[in-house]
Amino acid sequence: MKKATAIALLLLLVIVSFALTPLELDLDGTKVLYFAEYFDLYNEVTAFDEAEIAWVTDGDTVNLIRSKTLKLIEPVRLIGLDTPETVHPSKPVEEFGREASDFAKNLLNEKNVRLSYDWDPRDRYNRILGYLWLPVEYSGETRYVLFNLLAIINGYGHAYTSFSFNENYMQTFLEAETYARDNSLGLWGLQEAIIETPVEETKPGYDPTVFITNTGTKYHREGCRYLKDSKIALRLSEAKRRGYTPCSVCNPPK
Ligand SMILES: [Zn+2]
Repeated sequence: MKKATAIALLLLLVIVSFALTPLELDLDGTKVLYFAEYFDLYNEVTAFDEAEIAWVTDGDTVNLIRSKTLKLIEPVRLIGLDTPETVHPSKPVEEFGREASDFAKNLLNEKNVRLSYDWDPRDRYNRILGYLWLPVEYSGETRYVLFNLLAIINGYGHAYTSFSFNENYMQTFLEAETYARDNSLGLWGLQEAIIETPVEETKPGYDPTVFITNTGTKYHREGCRYLKDSKIALRLSEAKRRGYTPCSVCNPPK
């Protein structure tokens, strides 16, 4: 083969491998982003167990019942996915941990899934290491969405590659993380929102309405998740005079 032809073929291969077809899937009312090409990952699954999710611990850990073991509930750590902590006993709730956890709960709670495995059956906490596959109707047939990857594509976690797993999956997980980061999805968008300060907030005399709660010591922007239970409006200057400090999640004006 001529060198030019080889280069042309290589380029074509690169283009093809990055040409992903985004899909908006409706998984029981939750709209998620996936790529049509990723359905093919399921072709590598040679062995799996049918399972029912009992409950979700957090964004990357679930408890399920494999049909073959009947009523035994077993914890499963999702391979290749790392989401912010929500329930670690000695750490505060990490930023975005609750969103990642809610994403998993909405999509997985009490669902029937397929569980497949990699070379390492369990982690050091004796949790099963697995891939969760969610059935979805697509183009008139049942296809399987890899939840571990889905969470990364939608920005609810990082690709976790400290422990090796299926090489093809690993590359795909990293590719998905790049996509989520480039498109500011989920936690990647949050980080950007925290860094940026709108121009008008730097002008003198700027004294917008902010919100406090009955019990907290922070003040918030409209829409902050900490305002779910109580929400009291006041001027920024008044909030500061009363000793309230800005919330680190919604990053209100200072
Ligand atoms: Zn807040």
